[in-house]
Amino acid sequence: MLKRLISKLKKSVTHAGEQVQVISRNDHDISRDNISENALKVLYRLKKAGFEAYLVGGGVRDLLLGMHPKDFDVATNASPEQVNKLFRNSRLIGRRFRLVHVVYGRDVIEVATLRGHHENAQGKQQSKTSDSGMLLRDNVYGTIDEDAVRRDFTINALYYDIKDFSVRSYEGGMQDLKRRNIRLIGDPETRYREDPVRMLRAVRFAAKLDFKIAPQTAAPINELAPLLADVPAARLFDEVLKLFMAGYAERTFELLEQYGLFAQLFPHSQQCINENDFYRRLIIQALANSDERIAQGKTLTPAFLFSVFLWPCVLESQKLFEKQGMPPAAAYHQATSQVLSNQQAHTAIPRRFTDMVRNIWDMQRRLERRVKKHLESILSHPKFRAAYDFLLLREQAGEQLAGAGKWWTQYQKDNAHIIAQAKQQHQERNRERERKPRSDRRPRRRNSPAE
Ligand code: ATP
Ligand code: MG
Repeated sequence: MLKRLISKLKKSVTHAGEQVQVISRNDHDISRDNISENALKVLYRLKKAGFEAYLVGGGVRDLLLGMHPKDFDVATNASPEQVNKLFRNSRLIGRRFRLVHVVYGRDVIEVATLRGHHENAQGKQQSKTSDSGMLLRDNVYGTIDEDAVRRDFTINALYYDIKDFSVRSYEGGMQDLKRRNIRLIGDPETRYREDPVRMLRAVRFAAKLDFKIAPQTAAPINELAPLLADVPAARLFDEVLKLFMAGYAERTFELLEQYGLFAQLFPHSQQCINENDFYRRLIIQALANSDERIAQGKTLTPAFLFSVFLWPCVLESQKLFEKQGMPPAAAYHQATSQVLSNQQAHTAIPRRFTDMVRNIWDMQRRLERRVKKHLESILSHPKFRAAYDFLLLREQAGEQLAGAGKWWTQYQKDNAHIIAQAKQQHQERNRERERKPRSDRRPRRRNSPAE
């Protein structure tokens, strides 16, 4: 289908000199049936109010590739405040990049105002750049032609226009889609300096779409990877989830290592992996299992991923503390605390997940030991399943655990009633908590540093 399309493309050049191709509705296969109802509602409402409205980025890219987009992003010439006024169910978010979320229950449609060139900025509220060239604020508004060249990759500079259902492709986006090519718009080094997260995005799309990163786009990554140190750790945590929770984690990890990016996200883990290949096998096996779970429609907790990535660091740190004369249990506790706290500087892991990671780790020894009087309480533990999966993974990767995995598999089969009972109690506790008036609950700390 893409081939047919390309042959029909007519190129033209915008006022500002960007290349644009317009593909009319009869010449592409995007059907409104494949666009979410909520995204269509947003597009039509904007249009009715007299604004331009486009579906943009991954939604258009994935639809053209015959894939199901994970979310739909909208671009418009309405300002964030105008969008906010137009939708009662919306909220303004972001300072660095101001935009609007239109909320339909769990479904969120992200609406961004078309961005313009920074030469047109009127002060720091709109545009701000750090000494290293990083964009600290990107709130200069502009036209669709200007917006297109501010996007990251050509395959993401595709716009579906709700006015006439045509697709606008900038900077050869359509051809790159056909050639399965990830190419940055503009000068790669400048674009990575503006936002180092684009390096992670290049790898993420390469893995997800099974595309190649164009040589010029790939070339600076190894050298510029350390720029990720300037990105807020909370944003990197979000990026890690996008990298590893989408069902392509194994391939993503391979590419991240290849481009020196994994070392930026998990420096200590990378060091351990380099020194001992067992750790690499453990991580690859875990990611293969996670991808498999997602392919089967099962859920995956980020805590599991972090417990795997940081496990090598725990074992190595524990060894060091023991060498310094600490007893094993104390060395283990010291190691887990230190590893989790050091990692916060790179990817800020929210507290609810670090608690879970600790649970998964702490249960390993109990699972290995199998002390009779503790068996039932282990099986009833809300994190038993994740801890058991972790145990199996360690064995799969080659650790000798005296058959503990097999033993627990059998023990669960023989004691299914205990698991069912624990599950029921857990659900009841949750329901009870929901029934309680809010004032009875523990107050939520605002701006908790962990979140
Ligand atoms: P997916 O949603 O499948 O992860 P996506 O391409 O839609 O992929 P989003 O993060 O949803 O990615 O962003 C939507 C669009 O916004 C992108 O397609 C791209 O055009 C633009 N964009 C997002 N992040 C950046 C960035 N860091 N620099 C420039 N443009 C970006
Ligand atoms: Mg998207």
